[in-house]
Amino acid sequence: MKFGLWHLSFHFMPKFLQQKKGAKTKKKAKTLLQSPKGMHDILPEEQPLFLKIRQVGEKIADIYNFSKIDTPILEQKAIFERAVGEATDIVQKQMFTIKSRGDSQLVLRPEGTASVMRAYLQHGLAHLPHPLKLFYEGPMFRYEQPQAGRYRQFYQTGFEIIGTEDPIYDAQIILLAKNFLEELKLKKINIQINSIGCNVCREKYKEKLLAYYKGKQNRLCADCRKRLVINPLRILDCKNPHCEVFKKDAPVMLDNLCSNCKTHFKEVLEYLDEASLIYNINFHLVRGLDYYNKTVFEISSDEFDFALGGGGRYDYLSQMLGGPKVPAVGISLGIERLVEAMKIKNLEGIVVRKPKVFLIQLGSQAKKKSIKILKELYEAGIKTAEALDKDSLRVQLKAADKSGADFALILGQREVLDESIILRDMRTGVQENIAINKIVEEIKKRK
Ligand code: AMP
Repeated sequence: MKFGLWHLSFHFMPKFLQQKKGAKTKKKAKTLLQSPKGMHDILPEEQPLFLKIRQVGEKIADIYNFSKIDTPILEQKAIFERAVGEATDIVQKQMFTIKSRGDSQLVLRPEGTASVMRAYLQHGLAHLPHPLKLFYEGPMFRYEQPQAGRYRQFYQTGFEIIGTEDPIYDAQIILLAKNFLEELKLKKINIQINSIGCNVCREKYKEKLLAYYKGKQNRLCADCRKRLVINPLRILDCKNPHCEVFKKDAPVMLDNLCSNCKTHFKEVLEYLDEASLIYNINFHLVRGLDYYNKTVFEISSDEFDFALGGGGRYDYLSQMLGGPKVPAVGISLGIERLVEAMKIKNLEGIVVRKPKVFLIQLGSQAKKKSIKILKELYEAGIKTAEALDKDSLRVQLKAADKSGADFALILGQREVLDESIILRDMRTGVQENIAINKIVEEIKKRK
């Protein structure tokens, strides 16, 4: 019996090559891959708004004398467990955890403040002049159910004033946030403020709150029933109508502050009054992160129904991370939310400048020369566009028109031989012939 080579080798072939003779290949269309759920691309058309926000952030940071800090996107999980709190939604449900090769569990950072404090402690920044003002900007990650204005990867910019307990800095941070929004031309700024006291008066208040809710548990939503056990303060910011009804008679933190916290809050408000800043005291504002104490605030605009930023004092954060006592206060603003607000109000971002020149080349000699001309234009800082892969004059002129360039430089075979180039004013259509070695000089002269 003769074994054909085909027969023999069939069994040794990789599976995907094992196809019977004559069988038709059924090509399966490949699905178009998408970005991960809740994570979005920021396309060129949206960049002007992002750029504007970043520029305003840098301007504000400069005027208020903040220095920039960048921290890694990955951090040890323990940082947020300790700082943000094991019982919070962020830590319980929203962290992207990465199983790395070592022992430590890494997470994609869900927020920036804990990382900034970790870096402050790790690098002994206590030796720098205090209060130390640091700002950051970058992506944060939370595994949330995506919806309008809520992403799994979103950008925040934050401002932290580290090493001071003075209430004047709580006021300065709030003022800075208001300035930020006003620089973006957002109006009807709404500031909600509250105090959640210190570790001592807050614990006593929690007891009062628990006593008030005793017997009402069964009428609360499932989340609030859990909150009663792990984080009773959070009941106050539940938006469920069943829970809302009990809030109005619930004891209020502000009535239960110790004298130190009361004085602190009173002074913050006095400084805000001094700066003619209008605010609303919101008894139910608690913020969801464990590291906050005393002043907490949120900033938005009456023109939108979403928060633009939030922050507060975090005097215990350093100790939660294993450091000494380092009082601090800060705010973070959600960049996508600011972009959304600017879009709703039709506000302008950074306008990308048009090219001054469009270089057109005709024929292989001219194409070759183009690379040198572009180099000279680059060295002179003249913004230039081109379509070097095209060879028709008509197509290139059309592209020049579309680019919005004020001038076109046209280099044909004849010009290459003459060592000249045609300079065409795209606005008037007037053309002139100039020496090739004078291009930069001639373009610089023209507006
Ligand atoms: P937080 O860090 O939770 O205090 O949030 C500060 C600000 O970040 C909020 O006021 C929002 O503007 C923004 N923000 C928080 N979570 C998200 C998210 N999932 N998607 C987009 N923006 C967010």
